[in-house]
Formats: sequence, C-alpha cells, structure tokens
Amino acid sequence: MPAEISPESTAYRAALDVIRAVEPRVADAIGQEVADQREMLKLIASENYASPATLLAMGNWFSDKYAEGTIGRRFYAGCRNVDTVESLAAEHARELFGARHAYVQPHSGIDANLVAFWAVLGARVEVPFLEKTGARQVNDLTDADWAELRQAFGNQRMLGMSLDAGGHLTHGFRPNISGKMFDQRSYGTDPATGLIDYEALRASAREFKPLIIVAGYSAYPRLVNFRIMREIADEVGATLMVDMAHFAGLVAGKVLTGDFDPVPHAQIVTTTTHKSLRGPRGGMVLCDDSLKDQVDRGCPMVLGGPLPHVMAAKAVALAEARRPAFQDYAQRIVDNARALAEGLTKRGATLVTGGTDNHLNLIDVASSYGLTGRQAEAALLDSGIVTNRNAIPADPNGAWYTSGIRIGTPALTTRGLGTAEMDEVAGLIDRVLTATEPGTTKSGAPSKASHVLDAKVADEISHRATDLVAGFPLYPEIDLG
Ligand SMILES: *Cc1c(COP(=O)(O)O)cnc(C)c1O
Repeated sequence: MPAEISPESTAYRAALDVIRAVEPRVADAIGQEVADQREMLKLIASENYASPATLLAMGNWFSDKYAEGTIGRRFYAGCRNVDTVESLAAEHARELFGARHAYVQPHSGIDANLVAFWAVLGARVEVPFLEKTGARQVNDLTDADWAELRQAFGNQRMLGMSLDAGGHLTHGFRPNISGKMFDQRSYGTDPATGLIDYEALRASAREFKPLIIVAGYSAYPRLVNFRIMREIADEVGATLMVDMAHFAGLVAGKVLTGDFDPVPHAQIVTTTTHKSLRGPRGGMVLCDDSLKDQVDRGCPMVLGGPLPHVMAAKAVALAEARRPAFQDYAQRIVDNARALAEGLTKRGATLVTGGTDNHLNLIDVASSYGLTGRQAEAALLDSGIVTNRNAIPADPNGAWYTSGIRIGTPALTTRGLGTAEMDEVAGLIDRVLTATEPGTTKSGAPSKASHVLDAKVADEISHRATDLVAGFPLYPEIDLG
C-alpha cells in the first residue's frame, strides 16, 4: 500500500507543477534548494527553517496589493484583508513580546532599524523643532527653518556596539547609512573577560551624550543586561534602542527574561523575523507609546510599500511562536549551543568569552588552529559544514579575513538535533580544523586566504555530516515525489 501523501506534499507538488509549466528551471531550482538544504549541516547563526504554513502564506494574492499607510488608514482602497493580516501579525507580536505597540511592515532587519532611527529623530528632533517654530508640520516651515532642521537631523550622536565585539554594521558604521547619518562612537568588551564593560560604556555615554544608545549584536555569545543599559541611557538622556535580530526567538521562547528581555527596558526594539524567531524573511519594530506614532510613519518615510503576503506569513509564524512548543524549542537552542561549546572546548578549541549563554559560539580559529576565519570557513565548507567567518575582539586578521568562526544552533535545533549530536558536530569541526593548514601565496609566503585540506579528510567528514543530518529529516512531511 503506498504511504499516504501529506497535505504539504500535495500542496508543494501542485505548486511546482504550476511553476514548471511557465519556467521549468525555476521549479527545478526550488526543488534543488530543498534537496541541498536537507543535506547541509547548517550552523549559520542567522538562518533557520520556516514552517510550511509560514512559507505557504507568502505565495498568494496579497502580493498584488498596495497598502501604503497603516491598519485602517491606507492611501489605497480595497485593503480590508491586508488590514486583517497586518492586525493579526501586530496582535501576535504584542502578545508574544508583551509590547505596547508592534509595527510589522519592515521588509528586513536593516529596514526596521531605519524606521527606528527616524522614529527617534522624529520624536526627539523634529517634534520639538516644530513646537519651537509653531509650525504644524514640516511643509509649513520656512526654507530657513527647514534648512536648520535638516542640519539638526544630521548632527545627532549614536553609541553602538563595536563591530569586532559583535555589533552590526547598521549600528552607526560608515559603510551603512546609519554611519553617514549619525556621529557614532562605539563601546566594546573587556579584553580580559570578553564581556560588555558596562562601566566603560557608562563613562563613554556620559562624555559623548548620545541621542540613541543601540544595544544588540550579531556575534556576541553572552547575555546583555538591558536593565543596566536603560539605566545608563536614562542617566544621559538617550533613547535605548535594542536590535534583537539574532535573539528574538530566545525572547519569544522566554529563555531571555527579566534583565535580559529587552522589551520592558528599551523604548524601541527592532528585529528580523527570519533568524531564531523562525518566520518569513522580514523585520519588525516594537515600541512604547512615546514612539508609536512616529514608528507608524515608516512607510513611506523610509520603506517601500508594505509586503502584505509577508505580513500574512509573519502572523502565521508569530502564532506558532506563541505555542508552548516554541518555548521548548528556544530552550533546546541554548542547550545545544552550550553542548557545542563544551564539545569544542574539551577538544582544545578556544571560544571567545570561553563559552555561550545564547544561541551562538565564536571559535577563535587563529589561536586554536593557526587559521584565519576565511581559511576555516572554506575548509569546513569543503567538508559539508556551513558556517561563516566573523571578526573577534581586536582581531589580528582584520574584518575581511578575520580570526573567528561563528556557529549557531537555531537551524539544527529545528531539525531536532540534540546535545548528543552537538558533541558529534564539535568533533567534526575539530577534525576538519586540525587537519587544515594555511596555504601559501605564489611567492611562497603564508596566505591568509587559501587553505590546504586533504581531500580524503574533507570527503570523509562530509559523508559523516550528511549521515548525521539524515537522521533528522528536514520537512519530513514534504515529499516532492
Ligand atoms: C541580521 C541583522 C540585521 C539585518 O537584517 P536583514 O534582514 O538582513 O536586513 C540587523 N541587525 C542585526 C543585529 C542583525 O543580526
């Protein structure tokens, strides 16, 4: 008797047939992508696997709607169903995170940060300026006043976490627009412990007097005390903004609570929805009442028209995150990261800060294995292990080659791998990196870019990695036939 075909398999087979009839190469690429993902040992800390319900919510007629404006106040007609899904996503977000207000339109984490920066500039620079001049809105300002206000927008200060300590480019660094908008200074970590140095941060904030203090990270393996951050922000009259793009799933899953939950402490919190939160690609802003009206101006202030199909998928993913099973998932992410840390440490690897409290670890591959991050990343990829290189504090190899490998557990935890498998994963990583040597340049000098790894070792580890994940099928409910 043939096995019963699941509704998910039926849905995807039919969808691929419809696509195949128009452009078969796209249907094939979609099929190949899921096949590749099934074989990968994915340790990229910012990636995950969204549920079929979340993915399916994105492929439909909502994609055709323009919906500029906010719920119930649109610049376009015919938005009642968009209002429904945007309201649902916002309601789930408020309930899940205990936030006063949720804005679910941002298309990505970077977009959410831009909305947040301009909400703070609106509330703290534009509104007081309008009050001072007696104008009701910017269009009523004289040319001279408008010029003065534009100067004021461009002369604000931001304090953000330094890149090599794990901060993000959008926290005021020059290659990103945030660095071109703000006069930025960064705070880092204590060289002795690798932990955020709150007293140094406080001293810097007192001296610099920033408009915004940004907390949050992409590559910091420890907890951040947001109660202390808010205390410092209040002391210097700054707005505390937390970018929880990486760890939103741990907040949603109640692993990060009290001082470590940013939502009760920060005036404004931004996030992606596709990392540990496991939703569709996208962003979101949570805020208190003081910034709500400004945040809702995100589109058309800095965002293009909202993506209603993605907001529908956000509503589905946030509904999933409100289920008790998600709390269990979040706890397993952290247990797995810790098991990975222990497995690596006992094999002699050095981890930045010596371990982890969240979903990620940062291996110092320069001091552990004499490799650059780039060499380690490539050697691991040769061996079927997908990671990414990352700078470490005071990185001797700079931001391009780096000395770190960042590994995260949200994706493997979604597949069901547990702490015993994490020890095996640690063993595979250690085997590869121990067997890898730096390459040499044409003139025979040591290279920071190329590496040498015996193909037999790469092949053997690659097979072991594939066998390991094969025991934890990705999307077991989906069989494309
Ligand atoms: C990933 C990340 C972002 C950017 O998210 P995108 O969706 O890629 O725009 C912003 N901030 C932090 C801290 C991140 O880790």
